[in-house]
Amino acid sequence: MAATLIDTHVHLSHRKYSDDIDDVIARAHEAGVDHMVIPAIDIESIEIALQIAERHRGIYVMAGIHPSHTKEAAEEDLDRAAEFVGHELVVGVGESGLDYYWDRTFDEKQQSFLRFHIRLAISSGLPLILHNREASADLLAVIADELDSSSHPERLRGIFHCFSGPADVGKAAIELGFHLGIGGNVTYKNSPTREALPAMPRERIVLETDGPFLAPVPYRGKRNEPAYVRYVAETVAEVWRCSVDEVADVTTQNARALFSI
Ligand SMILES: [Zn+2]
Repeated sequence: MAATLIDTHVHLSHRKYSDDIDDVIARAHEAGVDHMVIPAIDIESIEIALQIAERHRGIYVMAGIHPSHTKEAAEEDLDRAAEFVGHELVVGVGESGLDYYWDRTFDEKQQSFLRFHIRLAISSGLPLILHNREASADLLAVIADELDSSSHPERLRGIFHCFSGPADVGKAAIELGFHLGIGGNVTYKNSPTREALPAMPRERIVLETDGPFLAPVPYRGKRNEPAYVRYVAETVAEVWRCSVDEVADVTTQNARALFSI
């Protein structure tokens, strides 16, 4: 049997899955994707994710507020998210990070939410999952600043999810203790992710779909789902010039160690 895979980032709580979630998960299991981790968007998404995780084996949950939802979120939402940490199915903090692509009117609020998540990850010992869109410099600077003032900087670990290069950002993230989440965009033509990947240490690579978004080739433009993480693994195997099983072994081991699952 082929080696198993882990989808470290799939939004199973998204309404696009609400009609056929059980089938989506069954197809993932059939494809050998035996663990999936659901990132949080807002408080409601954590509640939905926990309901899914309680009904299916191999599914875990993160707690946090997505940067794109920071604008409408209240400070109390951060405390509510933090209350989920400690639940046995909550294995990560996130997704947090910075998104400067859509709207630049609340950069500071995003940064302050990011700082909260970094501190929560350090105090809980859970990995921190970060989203980065056109914000690499500020993201790296805020993390470095928090580590400088932390009494336990060595505890910070996590994932730069949907890593899309360039190599120097990947290296900086790794230096700060992070893994890189490789998703569907590695399968796209002229992908900057693919270009940066050879320079990244294999022991810091994990796989993801980011479903329902960013479906890999040959499903680009369609709804993405966790079973498709196998296409991501196939492309990584091409780049690494090794077998898909080898990619599965390395990335599954990395993800299991990181999330303690
Ligand atoms: Zn995401």
